[in-house]
Order: sequence, then C-alpha cells, then structure tokens
Amino acid sequence: MGSDFECVVIGAGIVGLAVARRLSFDFKEVLVLEKNKTFGLENSSRNSGVIHAGIYYKKKSLKSIFCKKGNQTLYKYACERRIDHNKCGKLIIAQNESENKQLIKLKKNAAKNGVSLEKLNKNQINMLEPELKCFSALHSPTTGIIDIQNVMLNFVTDIENNNGKIVYNNKIKYLSKHQNTIKFTNDKKTSFTTKILINCAGLHSHNLAKSIDGMIQKNVPEVTYVKGNYFKLEGKSPFKKLIYPLPTSYGLGIHSTINLNNQTIFGPDEEIVKSIDYSVNKNKKETFIKNIRQFWPDIINKTITEDYSGIRTKVRANDFIIEECSKYGLCGLINLFGIESPGLTSCLQIGEYVNTMCKKYLQKNETKA
Ligand SMILES: Cc1cc2nc3c(=O)[nH]c(=O)nc-3n(C[C@H](O)[C@H](O)[C@H](O)COP(=O)(O)OP(=O)(O)OC[C@H]3O[C@@H](n4cnc5c(N)ncnc54)[C@H](O)[C@@H]3O)c2cc1C
Repeated sequence: MGSDFECVVIGAGIVGLAVARRLSFDFKEVLVLEKNKTFGLENSSRNSGVIHAGIYYKKKSLKSIFCKKGNQTLYKYACERRIDHNKCGKLIIAQNESENKQLIKLKKNAAKNGVSLEKLNKNQINMLEPELKCFSALHSPTTGIIDIQNVMLNFVTDIENNNGKIVYNNKIKYLSKHQNTIKFTNDKKTSFTTKILINCAGLHSHNLAKSIDGMIQKNVPEVTYVKGNYFKLEGKSPFKKLIYPLPTSYGLGIHSTINLNNQTIFGPDEEIVKSIDYSVNKNKKETFIKNIRQFWPDIINKTITEDYSGIRTKVRANDFIIEECSKYGLCGLINLFGIESPGLTSCLQIGEYVNTMCKKYLQKNETKA
C-alpha cells in the first residue's frame, strides 16, 4: 500500500493535536494540516476551560468513559509540564425542592460513572460561598480549570519532538479513495495520499466527510450548531468555586466560572444557529442578568460586558462519534463527529482511542497485503 504519508490529521484544535501527539509516539510520519495561521483558533479557544469530572453523561458512553479518565490524565499532564491549572471544585445548585430532586438524580448518575459528589446543606454552602443563593448543592471536588493554550502548545512541542509536522494555512478541500489509501487535496489543488486520515475538523468535520467521493450521505450524522455566548464580570470575583445551575437540554446552563487570572465569566447560553458567527449580541445582557440573579442577587449592582462565544456540534446520539470507515469502503479514514463538551477534558483519551484504532487498522491491512 504505497502512500506519501502514514498518518494525516486534519485540524489543529486541542483534539486534533492530542490525536497527532499520541500517534507521533508510535508512527514515523505524522502530519497535521490546519486551515488557520496557527493552532487552536476555533472552539478550542472558545470554551469554559473547565476540566470536567464526568457527572452528567450516560453510563458507558464515550463521553463518560473519556471524561472520567481524561480528568485524571489531564491534571497529571498539567503537573508534569507545569501547565497552570486550579482544581478549584464546582457546586451544582438547586433553587427549590423540585430542583433538589434533580440534584439527587444527578448524584446517582455521577456514581454510576464512578464520580463521587458530596451533597451540601445551606450552612456548608454558606461557609464555602457566602455570596451564593441556593436551596442545596452538590460539590464536585475534582472539577477545575486549566490553561488550554498552554496544553495545546505542549502538544505541539511533543508532536515536533517526535518528528511530526504541522502545516498551517492549509485547508483541505476534498478527500477521496485512492486504491487502499486516502487522497487529500488542499485549496492550492495539491494532492497527496496517506494510509490513514483522521478527520478532526471540529465544526467542519461532517461537511468534509460529506464531500468525500464514495461516502454515502446518510452515514454522516446530522450536526446541529448550538452557539454559546459569554459575558465577563467587571471587578472582583464573588466565588472561589465554579457555580453551575442544573443542566438544560443543550448544555450545562449559564454558569459562573473563573479563569486563571481570577476573572469571572458567565455563560455559555444556548442558541441554535445555522452558520458560524462568533460575534456576541450585547442585547443578551438582560437575559444573562436574570439568570445570574437567581444564584447571585448582587449582580444587579455590578457590570457585565459581552466577551466571546463558541459553537457546540450536537449530534442526535448526544455522544462523541469516532468511526473507522472501512465498512463504507473508505479504508483508512477515521471521522470524529460531535466532539463538543467534554472534548477538552477528554482530549488525551480520544488520542489513546484513535491511536489504538489506527494500530489495529494497519495490523489488519498489513497482514492482508
Ligand atoms: C461554548 C463551549 C464551551 C465548552 N466548554 C468546555 C469545557 O469547559 N470543558 C471541556 O472539556 N470541553 C468544553 N467544550 C468542548 C471543547 O471546546 C471542544 O470539544 C474542543 O475544543 C474540540 O476540539 P477540536 O479540536 O475537535 O475542534 P476545534 O478546536 O474546533 O478545531 C478544529 C480545527 O480544524 C480546523 N479545520 C476545519 N476544517 C478544516 C479543513 N478543511 N482543513 C484544515 N483544517 C480544518 C479548524 O480551523 C480548527 O482549528 C466547550 C465547547 C463549547 C463550544
């Protein structure tokens, strides 16, 4: 199976980089292609920056497996590389008896995923967060925040130290089957072949998959874009922990996070959109204040301003989809779809998973040849 490359990854977001990093330890030629001028300019720098614990996801889903383990491996990596992080913990709050029942269900779900949460009463909450108004709360001690930019920079260093290459300003326009390899063509109409191609194109991965000659369209999942806007607080942070309301159908609710500069950020909200536009509508301010007021009444005396936004890629299965496409006759193609939250927390585990897939694929095909 002659080809120009062994493994090619499309997309230098945190997931593409984590995949390429892991492959670069086991494969000789790893190439990452990115359409932007540098890494991580899309969703990987447009999120809450939270290392999640693995509370919400369905048992045995990829999200639950990768998030629980990814939480531990990402903290370990951060310690080894001295990447700034803060295991500050998070409170998930209920505002009344009915929400309290949902908290109890959430605690049970977390336990099924092997994540233990502590139920707090009002006194305990008050001791931890005096400015917080709520009826009851769950405490997640393993939730925290991390410097994502620095994580990605370390992944780039690992890839390059292992002789992998990242090429920027290189947009992949078409993929096609070429004998037992995948042919990829960029916007300058240059084509190469690779034994394995991993599509980590984030918001664009389903469109790239649809463009492949030979891909049956119904085998590419429908993706809904759900935009999440953020507002930042001017002045001192009222909370030491991350504060989350109960989850909603598309997200985790407008929550309060701190970043590593101790600045408080509120969001993301949920807005179904058809196209990619990261501008934040300042008219959303009143809705944000209404939501935040429920858990922090003093917000009415403070100022928040529009900050940034990100766009979730929701698939119907509500789980990560990572699929090797031999069954569709597209040998050597691996597609990643629906890599929304907790994609950042899960990135090292996604890298492990894809690496195992690639090794199995090559073993099978090299035995056949
Ligand atoms: C609002 C929001 C909040 C979130 N909060 C959290 C959180 O707190 N914790 C957490 O664990 N996860 C969180 N996530 C999820 C996390 O941000 C994503 O899972 C992660 O960033 C996805 O990384 P990625 O590399 O798959 O995608 P991206 O970062 O979008 O990278 C994809 C890359 O592919 C490139 N690309 C696309 N098409 C092509 C092409 N044709 N040719 C070449 N390059 C191409 C793009 O330019 C881009 O750089 C959040 C997501 C959102 C939207």
